[in-house]
Amino acid sequence: MSAHDALPEVPQQLFIGGSWVDAAGGATFAVEDPSTGEAIAHVADATVEDGTAALDAAVAAQKDWAATPPRDRGEILRKAFEIVTERTDELATIMTLEMGKPLKESKAEIAYGAEFLRWFSEEAVRVAGRYSTAPNGATRLLTLKQPVGPVLAITPWNFPLAMGTRKIAPAIAAGCTIVVKPAGLTPLTMLWLAQVLAEAGLPDGVLNVVTTKSTGKVMGPLIADPRLRKLTFTGSTEVGQSLVEQSAKGLLRVSMELGGNAPFLVFDDADVDAAVEGAMLAKMRNIGEACTAANRFIVHASVAEEFSTKLTERMQGLKSGPGLEDGVDVGPLVEEAQRDKVAQLVADAVGKGATVRCGGTLPDGPGWFYPPTVLTDVPLDSDLRTEEIFGPVAPIFTFTDEDEALAMANDTEYGLVAYAFTRDHARVIRVYEGLETGMVGINQGIVSNPAAPFGGVKASGFGREGGTEGIEEYLETKYVGLAF
Ligand code: NAD
Repeated sequence: MSAHDALPEVPQQLFIGGSWVDAAGGATFAVEDPSTGEAIAHVADATVEDGTAALDAAVAAQKDWAATPPRDRGEILRKAFEIVTERTDELATIMTLEMGKPLKESKAEIAYGAEFLRWFSEEAVRVAGRYSTAPNGATRLLTLKQPVGPVLAITPWNFPLAMGTRKIAPAIAAGCTIVVKPAGLTPLTMLWLAQVLAEAGLPDGVLNVVTTKSTGKVMGPLIADPRLRKLTFTGSTEVGQSLVEQSAKGLLRVSMELGGNAPFLVFDDADVDAAVEGAMLAKMRNIGEACTAANRFIVHASVAEEFSTKLTERMQGLKSGPGLEDGVDVGPLVEEAQRDKVAQLVADAVGKGATVRCGGTLPDGPGWFYPPTVLTDVPLDSDLRTEEIFGPVAPIFTFTDEDEALAMANDTEYGLVAYAFTRDHARVIRVYEGLETGMVGINQGIVSNPAAPFGGVKASGFGREGGTEGIEEYLETKYVGLAF
């Protein structure tokens, strides 16, 4: 069976104002299976006119949606959570076909991504204000929270569901309407989700999905449109910086979830086996194509050989192949350019003196596969120390004291997440306080949790998604002064 035949039924048009419509002019673009390069679908290629129609629909629905009881908004999200969960197998097949990750990774993302629908279904009814007496006793101070207004969300390809639900669920819960522009490489998951939200009872126009290959051209006018009030973006730092500049004109509320360069620290007192277990998660979740992926292993010299040997054994034991095949751990990278970038970063490190412990050579055959790779003796001037690898490559650096380890960890423009393995309680506190990141995993290789605030500092952006903080990004605070 070809990948095209394996694809479950999924909408391929634009979702605007509750209707599925073709792009103005009828253009489409192909979505490809990264394990073969074969086209599996052709989705609508929206024009500027389509983008504006989507914002028109969001603006038209905004007033009624803001006035919809929070319980009703929450019930729709809860229903969507249930449908997504029930239909996990169907969505996992779609996701694996368009993005490449193995089915078990797609299912893990669906469990994680669906949880934002449930979490924010519960948060919808917990939005509250404050009431206090002015210090001089003369007046009363009332604060209330109101939806910020129509939102534009732009999402990446690496977690095509979760990066969407992390924005859509809190926006809907807060009473905002939304236009979503999913990544051109993986639009099918978002189109599928739109259909599910409609089935769950979401009124027309509250969510609109625009797929396009002319991203900058179609998004520019929306960002410049004075009716838009909020821009939320997950993607690369470079594109994020340009979007912040564009949103300055309209003084939009902005949230930016950008790139990462996570350090993974292993101290001399760490449980090395637990650290290797954590490293496998931090490195290999999503084939290394995660903003939270461990990008630099910074290991105490006294345990570096044991850690490197054990990590190499684990990496060599992984099975690569097309994501739909049974027992596959490592799928292809998302596209040829991504694989070229990973291969180039490895070639640069090896050229400068790194030792290849496993992997490091491109396999024959179709698809954008890159093997799990471990590098030791990595020179500090290697490009992969400063650039996001976004692939299954683990470079190991060594250190000899704690201050040096922290300095190495913080020596990056990024600040999304860091991991540290140590059994010394006092060191744990020094380390999490000293790391310049928005998130820290202590003795664990995964931090993402819908109930926790996800986000970064420095070039990793600003704003938080998930937790009780996540809905605040979609709310304005209004203050009312009440005189007697
Ligand atoms: P990308 O920046 O290339 O694209 C992200 C989205 O922006 C896509 O939908 C793309 O079509 C759109 N886009 C591209 N150019 C645009 C423009 N000029 N105007 C408007 N939109 C534009 O990123 P990507 O390659 O899809 O994703 C990988 C990046 O995302 C990595 O850097 C990764 O670290 C980051 N990421 C961050 C987080 C986080 O939460 N911090 C999560 C996942 C991914």
